[in-house]
This record gives sequence, structure tokens and C-alpha cells, in this order.
Amino acid sequence: MHSITLIPGDGIGPSIVDAAIKVIAAAGVEIAWDRQLAGMAAVEKHANPLPDATLESIRNNRLCFKGPLTTPVGGGYRSVNVTLRQAFNLYANVRPVISFEGTDTMYDNVNLVTIRENTEGLYAGIEHFIKVDAEKIAAESIAVITKVGSERIIRYAFEYARKAQRKKVTLVHKANILKCTSGLFLEIGREIAKEYPDIEFDDKIVDATCMHMVMKPQSFDVIVTTNLFGDILSDLAAGLIGGLGLTAGANIGTDAALFEAVHGSAPDIADKGIANPTAMILAGAMMMEHIGELAAARRIEQAVREVIREGKYVTPDLNPESTCGTAQMAEAICAKIG
Ligand code: NAD
Repeated sequence: MHSITLIPGDGIGPSIVDAAIKVIAAAGVEIAWDRQLAGMAAVEKHANPLPDATLESIRNNRLCFKGPLTTPVGGGYRSVNVTLRQAFNLYANVRPVISFEGTDTMYDNVNLVTIRENTEGLYAGIEHFIKVDAEKIAAESIAVITKVGSERIIRYAFEYARKAQRKKVTLVHKANILKCTSGLFLEIGREIAKEYPDIEFDDKIVDATCMHMVMKPQSFDVIVTTNLFGDILSDLAAGLIGGLGLTAGANIGTDAALFEAVHGSAPDIADKGIANPTAMILAGAMMMEHIGELAAARRIEQAVREVIREGKYVTPDLNPESTCGTAQMAEAICAKIG
């Protein structure tokens, strides 16, 4: 029996998390879910977006399955997602993006993984205002790229490529302009690449990468990059296969691992019962793989792909004429698992 911290999340979170739990149970994996609050739900109940009990639970279980959390824009509290990444050293954000049969997208043969450094760069949280005089105020944000952090994520990407039998790692940077931060990341990447002669290595500037990903996404295999570029590129990659509703992400760290859908709490469709549970269910499959339940992971993934390919029990984001909701799509996936 695996013990896992469960955070249902905000907005559409509880409904898609519920769907994913049912699918994991249908795959026959027994899990003791330790339900905890975070985000708006925790603010409402405990006046704290990240209660100590939640942190303690993750510390004990070292595994967390998390629905999306609402983060106030501008003021309010700091992103709980960013705090969790830093608290548990969740340094590698891994997002596989593989085309689904049966979706209406520009490409049908995308198969890439973005691996984003999750704790450093411009998201290190070192931001402040500078008062120059009464009139002028500047805002400053500091990007921190460390040698240790870069080595860790780049090595992770190569090890991942080897294990997943992928052929190429592309390091994405902006070292032509950001000569120190991106420059260091690239320099370390070139060194580490020499230790993996079996994996092809190249590097690309981030703006050119965007163009190439849109024009020829099939030319990418594993992408490794710094925090901000990774955030943007991984959403771009999700768009190539049909959007955020289909993409799952793992946050792997030294102290814990956290699995989630890559999309947010979707306040525009919360309480309508129509959120696509795919991303959350696939996050569950990634978690099953992480804990060694490989057969269950494969069965879940195959069932999801089959239901989407058939197109009958899919949510309206995949088929605008569909009247199928979150729970019904999850039931169809459970039925395929058998
Ligand atoms: P969002 O991902 O919540 O929504 C963007 C669009 O995609 C919306 O139109 C939404 O309806 C649609 N969408 C998202 N998930 C869907 C699904 N499963 N099925 C069908 N449609 C789906 O992004 P947003 O509106 O920019 O953010 C809303 C809130 O979520 C914000 O507070 C933001 O900070 C937070 N957020 C949290 C996470 C996280 O917890 N990991 C990630 C991103 C955003």
C-alpha cells in the first residue's frame, strides 16, 4: 500500500482529482490517500494557503498528487506551487507531450519531453521595487543560475533520455544576450554532454526554438532548459498536441516528488462538470510509473488514449458537440481498463 498526500486543489481541481483517483483504483493500485488542503481552499479554512499539516504530510509521504491551485495575480500570497517546488527541492519539471489520435490539432506525430529547471532562474523569488525618487519606481527581478543547479537538471535530462530510450537532448538558452546566466547553463551542458556519447546533443536559442517547435516539432526529443524558458516552452509544447487539458507534469526532487496537471484551476468552467480530466489522470499514470507500478501506468495511459481516439466520451474541449462531462469521461476510461 502506497501512502500519498492528496491536494484536491481549487476550481476544477476536486473534480479532476476525483476522476484520477477512480482511474488509479480501477487499475488495481492500492493507495492510502492523505487528503490535505492548499491554495484558496486552505485560505478559506485555515487563513493560510500552505498549512503546516500539508507540508508535514508531504514530508512524511515524499509523494504528492496535486490538483491545480489558484494564485492571486499581482498582490496576495506567493504562489503555493513555487513555494512547494522550493520547499521540497522539486528541481526537475518533466512534461511529456505525445500526440493523441482523435484530436483536432495541426500535427499528429509530436513526441517530445520538456525538462525544466524548477527552482532557480527568474523564479527564484528575488524581486523588489527600487524607489529612485518620489516619481520613479523601478522593479527588479534577479535570475539565479547556479553551477550545482544546472549540473543537476542537465544530468537529469540525459539520464531521463537514456532510461526512456530517447535519442537527443536539446539545451535551450539565450546565451547570446544573457551571457552570464544562460552562458553558464550552456557551458555546463556542453561539458555534461561529453559524458553521454550515446545521446545526441545540440543547443538552440530560445526564440529560434519557438519557431522550430511550431514549424517542425518532430525534430525535438528531450528539451532541457532554465525555469522561465521552460515554463513558456512547455505550454507551447502542450498546445501542439491539443492544449493544457491533455498534458501532465511531474515535479521530481531530492526530498519528494509531486504530480499534477499542467493547467490551472480554470475558474471559467469550475462547477460546470465539464473539465477534461485527462491531464490529471495522466499525471496519475506518471506517478504510478514513479512508484514502480509500471503495468498500471501503461494500462491507464492506453485507456485514456483509446477513449480519446474513439471520441465518444470526451469533454467539450475535445469535441464541442459533446455533452460528456468529467465524471462520464473518467467512467469510460475506467471501463476500458476493465
Ligand atoms: P487555466 O489553465 O486555469 O485555464 C486556461 C484556459 O484553459 C481556460 O479557458 C480553461 O477553461 C481551460 N482549461 C484549463 N484546464 C482545462 C481542463 N482540464 N479542461 C478543459 N479546459 C481547461 O489558466 P488560467 O485561467 O490562466 O489560471 C487560472 C488559475 O490557475 C490562476 O489562479 C493560476 O495562477 C492558476 N494556475 C495554477 C497552476 C497549478 O496549480 N499548477 C498552473 C497554472 C495556473
